[in-house]
Amino acid sequence: MIQDIAPHCFDNTYAGKDPKENDLIFVFDKDNVLCRIENEKVFFPKGRDLKDHKVTYLFRIDETSYFFCDAKETIDGYAFNSLRSIRDSIDHDEMMLFGVYTAYHLSLWYKDNRYCGRCAGTMEETKDERALECLNCHKRIYPRINPAVIVGVKNKDKLLITRYAKGFAHNALVAGFTEIGETLEDTVRREVKEEAGISVKNITYYKSQPWGIAQDILAGFYCEVDGDDTIRMDNRELKYASWVARQDIELQPTDYSLTNEMMRMFKEGKIK
Ligand SMILES: [Zn+2]
Repeated sequence: MIQDIAPHCFDNTYAGKDPKENDLIFVFDKDNVLCRIENEKVFFPKGRDLKDHKVTYLFRIDETSYFFCDAKETIDGYAFNSLRSIRDSIDHDEMMLFGVYTAYHLSLWYKDNRYCGRCAGTMEETKDERALECLNCHKRIYPRINPAVIVGVKNKDKLLITRYAKGFAHNALVAGFTEIGETLEDTVRREVKEEAGISVKNITYYKSQPWGIAQDILAGFYCEVDGDDTIRMDNRELKYASWVARQDIELQPTDYSLTNEMMRMFKEGKIK
């Protein structure tokens, strides 16, 4: 999965510091990132390429620090490429994809919080921790992570496979954000009911996954259909929803996502 970057080591301890020559700088413009793609490898601008720009420290992977720069211009040799095209065009490089997705998540938080939501004062980066503080009312805010669930609904030897109405085109599972006041298990029950019209039981936690491109933390659960297994699909969210036998499950082209691992584990008979 995207976060499985060993032997590389992700360190998100906050460090307010300047980039070195070889540190990586991410420049985002909407859902695009400034980079160069060569032979299924992606290269990002380095500290030496953006010397005169204000940059914000994000995190470290091994000895390389990652920063983001809120610039709009391109740099010689680099171009804006969509995050989707990077996922599709690189050759199984979890560390790179995890880095760019996580950087994107943090950069959006900084960009979306220039002003205080309480008093409209200007927000400033704090020096002692990763936070923003209002210069006027001193309200401090921290990066926001949205919890969401991925659900593998089992029906004996079949799994409920879906495809989203918009965006990602490959097979997926029921998924959705947790709403205020819900437990994760409540979200599982509600999302399966909303998207497929099915009641579920025996909800069991599987694994989690940070998914920065959607600013999420995903929690994966398996459960079983409870009673009537007739699918009543929500056409606004899905274009396909069906019970698929283990051997017939078609996986996603890459194994970055928790969704794909959960489909694969069921397909391989490792989840009964
Ligand atoms: Zn304020």
